[in-house]
Amino acid sequence: MQRWFLGLLAAVLIGMLASGGVIRAQGSQTAHEFDVVLDFDALKQGNTGLLHIQGTDIAGARLLFLNRLVECYPAGGAWHGLLSVNMEYTPGTYPLEVLVWFQDGSRSSWEGQVSVLDGGFMRQDVTIGSDLGYLLEPEVDREERARLQAIFNQVTQLRYWNGPFAKPLDAEFTSPFGAWRLYNSALWGRHTGADLRGPAGTPLLAPAAGRVVLAERLDVRGNYVLIDHGWGVYSGLAHLSEIHVTRGQIVQAGQVVGISGSTGRSSGPHIHWEIAVNGEWVDPSQFIGINLP
Ligand SMILES: [Zn+2]
Repeated sequence: MQRWFLGLLAAVLIGMLASGGVIRAQGSQTAHEFDVVLDFDALKQGNTGLLHIQGTDIAGARLLFLNRLVECYPAGGAWHGLLSVNMEYTPGTYPLEVLVWFQDGSRSSWEGQVSVLDGGFMRQDVTIGSDLGYLLEPEVDREERARLQAIFNQVTQLRYWNGPFAKPLDAEFTSPFGAWRLYNSALWGRHTGADLRGPAGTPLLAPAAGRVVLAERLDVRGNYVLIDHGWGVYSGLAHLSEIHVTRGQIVQAGQVVGISGSTGRSSGPHIHWEIAVNGEWVDPSQFIGINLP
């Protein structure tokens, strides 16, 4: 990791290209110093980035990135924030602002820039049974997404997880996140999650601890379990043959939440796993590599 020492420079370091490493900032109107640590060099479309803020007497912190204000949370002596990039966001360089306030009421900020890179998404043709033709109506997709989006806009301040997320079953990814999909040569869509190989009847495990916020049949996702992991992180498992949890239930990491299947808009048995961070769908295969607090 590269390290910059910028201790006595101005508070707002506009124009600096942020990269993985420690950045030290000091507010012009406060005696407080704080370090900003980025765990990433750049973010691809659909990626999640983790940022840490370290310093004494910090009372709170927020991030402003891609027009979204994100709350930071304390754990293990530092404050932590998650950045997420919408899969459709135009690649380029965007400002990242870190706002910190201290127990004596003073405030400080740091401003840098983060590169957003192309996600390199592939195109796939998907064929579903003609009996499922009603699932090719754009309105069905829109209504289901709107319902999920309303849930994702609720951010739970509690962090349920403890350690990194794990795949819901030990299997390989078969279809990547973000793919452009053409269903039955009729409807274009984007893949909101990543698919894992698995025959029908396989037990599926909670990727991390959390609270079940949906456990019911949806049109596109079929039998669906959605878990709120806290700090704005949600994960969902779709196309299940059986649901083994109920809404409101607290689940532990590795607990069986359902059985794989092929319900909803599915071309055959597989496991669709999706994760949303701060209201954006993100790539689960990248998220599991993040060293979460
Ligand atoms: Zn899928």
